[in-house]
Amino acid sequence: MNIAVTGGIGSGKSFVAESLAKMIGAESISADQICRDLLKIGQLGYKEIRKHFAADFFLADGQLNRPLLRKAIFTSDTLRSQLDTLLHPLVHEELLFRCKEAKKKDHNLVVEVPLLLEKGWQDDFDATLVVYADDKTCLKRIMDRDMVSVDDACASIACQMPLPEKCEFADWVIDNSGSYDESLKQLEQLAEELSKSNIFPGKHK
Ligand code: ADP
Repeated sequence: MNIAVTGGIGSGKSFVAESLAKMIGAESISADQICRDLLKIGQLGYKEIRKHFAADFFLADGQLNRPLLRKAIFTSDTLRSQLDTLLHPLVHEELLFRCKEAKKKDHNLVVEVPLLLEKGWQDDFDATLVVYADDKTCLKRIMDRDMVSVDDACASIACQMPLPEKCEFADWVIDNSGSYDESLKQLEQLAEELSKSNIFPGKHK
């Protein structure tokens, strides 16, 4: 079985996805990591950007100047959508490949996909877990983690589908507005349910 973990930025997707994977003994991968890998020199994503973006976006050693690109897409919707058009199909293809490989090996997989619902990819997975946290908590976590202003944190939340709307698509919702321990308890309950339903027999301890 493969489970997609999604939610809002700063809601705690990475924490929840990694914790769940450990509890149920599943492999875990993240769409963001796949994207970062695709942008390494010589990889498919890198080659596409090299073809379509100005030389200013590359450092002297050939590497992509990620901070500059991040800043540029933040201020230009056109550039952001150009980048998305180039990269999202590659990320999607790799995600599908990894899911297929896991099924072949009979491995369970937890996949963190921030834009799962915005992209309409949920049917590629057996189940969807949405990580919820209230807006105030998400804002604080984004500001602390990424050292950004409140305006920048608000802007990154505004780019995504509202979190309560995402929860409507979920097979399971984990409310991560509280402490780590509170979320771990919810995850233990979910792992127990999965174990009882024989999807992950005996793997949750
Ligand atoms: P996302 O992947 O959804 O953007 P992260 O998992 O990176 O979010 O979490 C955002 C930040 O909040 C991280 O610095 C993380 O350590 C912190 N965090 C996540 N869950 C909790 C929690 N329950 N309590 C306190 N801090 C948390």
